[in-house]
Amino acid sequence: MTQTTTAGKRVGVLALQGDFREHREMLQALGHETVEVRKVEHLAGLDALIIPGGESTAIARLILSNGMLEPLREFCAAGKPVWGTCAGAILLAREVDRLDRPGIETMDIAVRRNAFGRQIDSFEADLEIEGLPGEAPFRAVFIRAPLIERVFGRAKAIARLDDGTIVAARQGNLLATAFHPELTNDPRMHEWFLALGTDEPPGPGTREAPRLERTTGALGGGASGG
Ligand code: GLN
Repeated sequence: MTQTTTAGKRVGVLALQGDFREHREMLQALGHETVEVRKVEHLAGLDALIIPGGESTAIARLILSNGMLEPLREFCAAGKPVWGTCAGAILLAREVDRLDRPGIETMDIAVRRNAFGRQIDSFEADLEIEGLPGEAPFRAVFIRAPLIERVFGRAKAIARLDDGTIVAARQGNLLATAFHPELTNDPRMHEWFLALGTDEPPGPGTREAPRLERTTGALGGGASGG
């Protein structure tokens, strides 16, 4: 399909805990219908899903108690765009340090929670994001952010801090960002994300040989985190 605009999609935002309202506002400003997803039934008929930032342990607990773990895994496997921001990225990762219950575990990334330490609770950085339309760098807001220590298998690093730390990754229809585009006025990532998965086949169809990409920054080398 050669659609140039994605307006008019029905986009779910997992609304168990965290900053789901800010995602909804951004999507609505772009002309999309939004659904607060709290139960399995709310996943029906969605074109895409966002898992917001918040507290990954709390969101994981509520996913389990609401019986949503398998349905969310199935949604991710179905090929529609799914994006995890910050805590959401933690929940999508196959490998996480210090998450005491299962997440969705669908992306070939290893993340470290609260990786930037207490001294730098939050910060902003201008990023080049591979594939994102537009010339300008993307102003990224990090809040008690995780870092992506490694991408492996089918995932690809698409943005790094100046020191080499991986802060965004993509795997076909799946997107993980350590930062919060919903807290900026730049709608490019929300718009771009809605087209993911339509440009390449989902799932294990990818032909690339297994690779390993690591965070190369000082923070990736075993800083104890906060
Ligand atoms: N530190 C949080 C966690 O580990 C994530 C923070 C966020 O989503 N802004 O779950």
